[in-house]
Amino acid sequence: MTQSIRVTVWNEYRHERENPKIGAVYPEGIHSAIAAGLKNYDFAVQTATLDEPEHGLTEEKLANTDVLVWWGHKAHEQVSDEVVERVHRRILEDGMGLIVLHSGHFSKIFKRLMGTGCNLKWREDGQKERLWVVAPGHPIAAGIGEYIELPQEEMYGEHFDIPEPEALVFVSWFPGGEVFRSGCCYQRGTGRIFYFRPGHEEYPTFFNPQIQQVIANGVKWAAPTFPHKPIRGNTPPLENLPR
Ligand code: ZN
Repeated sequence: MTQSIRVTVWNEYRHERENPKIGAVYPEGIHSAIAAGLKNYDFAVQTATLDEPEHGLTEEKLANTDVLVWWGHKAHEQVSDEVVERVHRRILEDGMGLIVLHSGHFSKIFKRLMGTGCNLKWREDGQKERLWVVAPGHPIAAGIGEYIELPQEEMYGEHFDIPEPEALVFVSWFPGGEVFRSGCCYQRGTGRIFYFRPGHEEYPTFFNPQIQQVIANGVKWAAPTFPHKPIRGNTPPLENLPR
């Protein structure tokens, strides 16, 4: 029997509680919408939010997480360095997967993993977004077809200050003429990272079945494949060496 992939959906959970308009879009928070989408698949899903003790990301919770999904925007700086260090270590050493959504491009953990500024162009104009699949054979694009169209989103445009993606799965087009690398894959240490652009808090993007499917595909792709920690440090030889 195979064990279900254990997913923790982390959300800052501030916009929804502070702005009634956004609270109306996500009455139970963005994390609950993402978690509900993932529950249609064979995952064991839990959530965590910024204002819980240790941001809900205790050693124990992370030890029971195969893939962490991250949504943050206005409170990146309130995420403690200790928790960032803990998440970073678990990705590099234990192969935990990380899915960074939308404005998570400026989170401490994503910037640390990328090592670049991660800045981009943006405009809150509520226009359409079309995400083209540019890697049709990639597991994250499975079942998506040629493109995803979202009726209303925030615009993100190039240049996006990230390292060259190891795989680029989506490129977005916006009516203002901008394009954006909106589905980017990376490996850091033993862990896999997927950045996925859509998900501005004012729009019901995380209720869209195609967006839910991409996140689910991302979870499957980012789940740890390495069965045990790499062995490092001072090590006895495997052969009898001449003395
Ligand atoms: Zn946004």
